[in-house]
Amino acid sequence: MNLFETLDTSGHEEVVFCHNKEAGLKAIIAIHNTALGPALGGLRMWPYETEAAALEDVLRLSRGMTYKAAVAGLNLGGGKAVIVGNPKTDKSELLFRALGRFVNSLNGRYITAEDVGTDVNDMEMVLQETDHCVGVHQVHGGSGDPSPFTAYGVLQAIRACLKRRFDSEDIGGHSYAIQGVGHVGYHLARLLHDEGAKVFVADIDDELVQKVVDEFGCEAVSDSEIYDVDADVFSPCALGAIVNPETIPRFKFKVIAGAANNQLADEKCGDEIDRLGVLYAPDYAANAGGLMNVSIELEGYDRERAIRMTRTIYYNVSRIFKIAERDGITTWKAADRMAEERIAAVSRLKVPFLGQKPLRFHGRLRATG
Ligand code: NAD
Repeated sequence: MNLFETLDTSGHEEVVFCHNKEAGLKAIIAIHNTALGPALGGLRMWPYETEAAALEDVLRLSRGMTYKAAVAGLNLGGGKAVIVGNPKTDKSELLFRALGRFVNSLNGRYITAEDVGTDVNDMEMVLQETDHCVGVHQVHGGSGDPSPFTAYGVLQAIRACLKRRFDSEDIGGHSYAIQGVGHVGYHLARLLHDEGAKVFVADIDDELVQKVVDEFGCEAVSDSEIYDVDADVFSPCALGAIVNPETIPRFKFKVIAGAANNQLADEKCGDEIDRLGVLYAPDYAANAGGLMNVSIELEGYDRERAIRMTRTIYYNVSRIFKIAERDGITTWKAADRMAEERIAAVSRLKVPFLGQKPLRFHGRLRATG
């Protein structure tokens, strides 16, 4: 990979390579865009095989955060950090404190959080060195497990889809197929059950399946059969790229709305389901409840406010459908357009965010809702 050539074309504002020999730290922080506010995004720890793979991942993920925050209506930009290392064997206080110092040196332009391979305990160590950190322990004003909020946000996205597709928001009057009943899928199964819905579930972990069967009366199907279920709504809550050329011909679903990131294998698959009349709630709009929840830590965590903010996902997804209709484009393209229009509009007003005191001491985090 030609480093500067890659950065020339990636569209990122700033990419910081972090190295500390004593701590064994090899990390990259990527700030994609701060037009709307400080760049917030998780810290991923992963044993990347090459430095190029780590860079590619952090550039892709930070860009995704820009779009997610913009569509969520948050006054936040997009950023992400990756540590090259094995989360099972390479963690230490020194490592996370060293990373925390780099985050602090960015003066609030980047705010970190937990992500794949890191957890609330790691964030506690980052917090020793910087205030620009969320997803911390509840005793420090943290927001706890984001999954119930992500699930609640997916429920709002489903409601918007039902309204659009069936002109009815009656959750209980429809059937659902949830792929993956881990943290988010479990709570989604509970919420759908509470509304009286028929819910099919699949997971490679039989114990998790049995739990939702016992607790919520869900019907179990095998992980290979979930794509064939005759349900109105497919809710991917496990893996990415599950809307692909192999699975699409099997779908009887009318709606796809779930928590998994990067559900479409590629853009062509998004176009194909649109052509088949399957309404797709773009993943990063539907699964923004976790981000909304954690972002409230910056202003002093308030659970009721997090719930109210998560409900706005209904309006965000509905707006995406309106843009798709207005411009005659697919919903995934409309979501990108909604983000880009908001960033372009605000960019006309503001200079890039230049760093300031932690946002928790400042004014409003959210522009709308
Ligand atoms: P999780 O690991 O707790 O749950 C995922 C579940 O999927 C697991 O139970 C796993 O056994 C199952 N699974 C894996 N492969 C499968 C397969 N082939 N078929 C069926 N089941 C399979 O993760 P989570 O926190 O519930 O997140 C689910 C998805 O939502 C992930 O893609 C995640 O990136 C995304 N997401 C989560 C949050 C959040 O708040 N947790 C926020 C935004 C996005």
